[in-house]
Amino acid sequence: MAPTSALLASTKDSEQAILDAIEHQFQLDNDALLKISGQFLEDFRLGLGQYNHPMAMIPTYVTGVPNGSETGTFLALDLGGTNLRVCEVQLQGNHEFTLRQQKYRVSEALKTGEATALFDYLADSVDAFLTDNASSPTNAPADPFASGSSLDFMDSGLNSAIPLGLTFSFPVEQTALNEGKILTWTKGFSAKNAVGHDVVGLLQDAFDRKHLHVRCVALVNDTVGALLSRAYSAGDCLLGAIFGTGTNGAYLEKVENITKLGNSAARKHGGHMVVNCEWGAFNNTRTTLPTTPFDNKLDRESINPRLQAFEKFISGMYLGEITRNILLSLVDAAPHPLLFNGRASRELNQHYGLDTAVMSEIEEAWEKGRGTASGADGVEGGSAINTLGASGSEPKVNGSQPHFTHVDELSHEDQSRLERIRSVIIQRLSMDAADVSLRDAAIVRWAASLVANRAAKLSGCAVAAIMAQTGFAKLGGQHVPEEQRFVIGVDGSLIEHYPNFNARLRESVRALIGEEVEKRIELGMAKDGSGVGAALGALQATKHGL
Ligand code: BGC
Ligand code: MG
Repeated sequence: MAPTSALLASTKDSEQAILDAIEHQFQLDNDALLKISGQFLEDFRLGLGQYNHPMAMIPTYVTGVPNGSETGTFLALDLGGTNLRVCEVQLQGNHEFTLRQQKYRVSEALKTGEATALFDYLADSVDAFLTDNASSPTNAPADPFASGSSLDFMDSGLNSAIPLGLTFSFPVEQTALNEGKILTWTKGFSAKNAVGHDVVGLLQDAFDRKHLHVRCVALVNDTVGALLSRAYSAGDCLLGAIFGTGTNGAYLEKVENITKLGNSAARKHGGHMVVNCEWGAFNNTRTTLPTTPFDNKLDRESINPRLQAFEKFISGMYLGEITRNILLSLVDAAPHPLLFNGRASRELNQHYGLDTAVMSEIEEAWEKGRGTASGADGVEGGSAINTLGASGSEPKVNGSQPHFTHVDELSHEDQSRLERIRSVIIQRLSMDAADVSLRDAAIVRWAASLVANRAAKLSGCAVAAIMAQTGFAKLGGQHVPEEQRFVIGVDGSLIEHYPNFNARLRESVRALIGEEVEKRIELGMAKDGSGVGAALGALQATKHGL
């Protein structure tokens, strides 16, 4: 029989081998990143050429970006993230705006029930918003522009119906700025009798059923909203991207490149048009994406298997679930559990029971002890324009840090960081304290950073691909442009709050298109992008008499 110490040592080795094997599956070297970005360019081309491609490359009928001089007051309705929001947006014409908003919860029943119930709820929320804003048009429907009204909507020749812009953050095949069929639901929505229907029609019918004096004049995706609102604030913008509950991007494309528009009037008109990529559906075949068994489990158990493949690697809705899958595999490891004494809590056993916000807290607890920038990665909240730091000003990022097999050898500082992580785990996952060691805390942080690091790197592939698609950069090349800044508007919980997400994303962009171009990218929050973007969409619509 082997001596105990040897037995222990061999156990340690095999444990380490299991962790190493997982870590290996999550690594992405520069060649892999280049291959993914290259595939993005190929899919962009296919999507611009044909309808019904998973990378939908949707023409949005938004034909330019604002410069900040626009004015007017509009209602905006935003559906598709975590909350439903109704806002009143006042564009002041000097890159500034004011915004008043109310958030409403969308229950699971509404997300998955009949579409008419969901759209009735949207209409009710708009009604409630107008009612709550005293002396609003609903109180005086005959004269919405009466002086003293708190809502001073521009007279748009709509028989005084209030113009509303809808931000609808799902794939919609647009046929006009105010018309488009829902292609599919994403992000946990599955309302019945909506796919294939005109989303503006569904909403307008609900307004009309309730005799609301509101007219939906424009439909924008949230990425388009981010693009427009960042352009309004910064004077220019080439890409609007969301890294939140879901992920996607919209950019300004030459109409001549949107070959699927054929000989349509829009194509003949030429110029530029914003294209909504729907990049969440990139590589649904998973031939290029670095799929692990943890990803396959997530996909199989999701309500949309084999769809939104890229989104399932990237977005806030899913990162917690991938991490949960890794942790459970360690709890169940044979012949000995590698985590939590082989016990899992109710949360950990529950589908989607580990929220991405918990990963964020864990990484933040770790980061705090390192004396680096805030958990929000240098992003300030509140103001309309926030520029996320360029490469030089960012804290050094350690993608995946070592997993500690010897917690007794840790520095005092590291120990106290792990103590904090341990408390987060005990609290947020309702774990029995006796089952959570410091080593467990280190392993959970390691798993979270593997998953988040991969997500940020893959996000960088999408951003770099857009830079290449628009001709501002070359993949793999140190293409040095003239002095130029590249403005990108972003929104979403991950990019705004997840520690180091932005820095990790930039690192990947740098690897793909070179530091010379990367450092000129002004990646900034498109704060309130959905509201302001919908208002700017509505403005374009009213100018065109829609
Ligand atoms: C949707 C996109 C949206 C993105 C971010 C995805 O699931 O398909 O339309 O832009 O989420 O909200
Ligand atoms: Mg949103």
